[in-house]
Amino acid sequence: MSQTPVKLVDAHFHLDLYKEPSAILSECETRGVYTIAVTNAPSVFAHTQRLAGQTKHVRAALGLHPELVASHFHELPDLLRLMEQTRYIGEIGLDHVTSDMALRQKQREVFEAVLLRAADFGDRILTVHSRRAASDVIACVGNAFPGTVILHWFSGSRRELHAGLEAGCYFSVNPAMIKSKTGSALIREIPRNRLLTETDGPFVEVDGRRALPSDVRYAIDGIAKLWNVDPAEVASTVLSNFRAVVEPRTALEQPAE
Ligand code: MN
Repeated sequence: MSQTPVKLVDAHFHLDLYKEPSAILSECETRGVYTIAVTNAPSVFAHTQRLAGQTKHVRAALGLHPELVASHFHELPDLLRLMEQTRYIGEIGLDHVTSDMALRQKQREVFEAVLLRAADFGDRILTVHSRRAASDVIACVGNAFPGTVILHWFSGSRRELHAGLEAGCYFSVNPAMIKSKTGSALIREIPRNRLLTETDGPFVEVDGRRALPSDVRYAIDGIAKLWNVDPAEVASTVLSNFRAVVEPRTALEQPAE
């Protein structure tokens, strides 16, 4: 057994919502947690990019959360313009908790514009929210999207999950999904080569506190039980999946085994 633990992956974490981001960044660096630090509006991207900029493991993602489209729709041109600066896009997507059809339409306008712009570059990595909107999100992505879509905290149906797989999507799984029976049932359906881990901290809590990137170990332990394998095997599978996602470019340094 190697003395060095396998590096971890938190594919969806809200670094900018924590009071002490520098302590979190140093833990990511020391422990070796590759982290996609999503943002919810283009106006806060630069701040997160500055925080993550000097690190080896953390990358800032540019986003416009569907639940913020009502108040931040005017930032769409900034979002499209800034997409040149980063491969990492999120949090974006659709949220059909709202029944306001005009608002749903605006969310869709943002999401489709981002997908179209991302297709121009071809190598963008999108971390996507799809609450109560999985079918629409997957239909927007289509079956020929030239980039990577990671469906984060997926809560659609089994049928929708398989449509997502056909569209080439990855799925990032968090500790809250492991605790839920329906979440666990969905995780069993995800092929091993399409699975990633996330925390979605601070929106997910573990042990009564806001999740940190290294808490993906709770997801790893849960997946290990579902797969009936050692957690180290899950961690190494997730790491190689993440490497497959970030290739062919090396925006993130290639992890050493
Ligand atoms: Mn989130």
